[in-house]
Amino acid sequence: MVSIDLNGRHALVLGVANHRSLSWAIAQQLHAAGAALCLTYAGERLKAGVEELAATLPGTRVLECDVTREDQVAAVAHALEAAWGSIEMLVHGVAFARKEDLEGRFVDTPVEGFQLALDVSAYSLLRVTRHVLPLMKQGGSIVTLSYLAAERAVPSYNVMGSAKAVLEQSVRQLAFELGPMNVRVNAISAGPVSTLAARGIHGFTDMLKKHADKAPLKRNITKEEVGRAGLFLLSDLSSGVTGEVLMVDAGYSIMAW
Ligand code: NAP
Repeated sequence: MVSIDLNGRHALVLGVANHRSLSWAIAQQLHAAGAALCLTYAGERLKAGVEELAATLPGTRVLECDVTREDQVAAVAHALEAAWGSIEMLVHGVAFARKEDLEGRFVDTPVEGFQLALDVSAYSLLRVTRHVLPLMKQGGSIVTLSYLAAERAVPSYNVMGSAKAVLEQSVRQLAFELGPMNVRVNAISAGPVSTLAARGIHGFTDMLKKHADKAPLKRNITKEEVGRAGLFLLSDLSSGVTGEVLMVDAGYSIMAW
């Protein structure tokens, strides 16, 4: 019998912008299961908000981490090695593309916009994993957040679809490479949830409606459902699962039309 008891385990959670963030929903579940947490923020603008949220989960640390900055990622790993000695869980809930690259034609995406989106949203999984890996001494579980645009054409998703495709391939390749170290790597492919990042997608409200109409469960998912799926993948409940993309989308992706 496996119970979800994460006491004595440590989780680094990237991608909390505010209380709507999918990473925040996962962080809340991990805390409730007893894990010690560190949340990060990218830039001073978000510091106060993340600190305020962290204060509601006693014992939670907060550090700065722009995932495009190798030095900041390294500093986070060093700080957590000093504080905790080990990390068992990593939540990678970070993505970014320039507004103009989500609005025009995909074919017109300039190389700078393409590279930036892939750096923040996909390459960062490798960068953070590389620094955290030495701390996963007894193994660990890594979860990232993806979307159906990795495998299907989605209006307005443009370069973010490219980034998610690379992200999902990276999940499989990392799972293969890190498996012998007992480190599991999985993705949650979430249905649309109204967050800061999602509202940057043109026509998002219409997308929410279409998604709910077509999904077998006849509704959209909640961020709490993503939080619980995250808890499953990060805990020993999923000890036999790695390299997987778990659809948490009310069944939307099984439908042909
Ligand atoms: P969110 O609350 O806006 O979270 C996105 C996070 O990424 C923000 O904290 C953002 O910080 C951070 N970020 C951007 N650039 C960064 C950088 N250089 N360094 C560190 N952090 C950076 O939105 P969310 O919807 O929860 O997104 C979390 C993940 O879920 C993303 O990968 C997203 O693609 C994925 N996802 C979302 C949905 C959805 O419908 N919401 C569906 C499927 C997948 P800033 O605010 O400073 O940019």
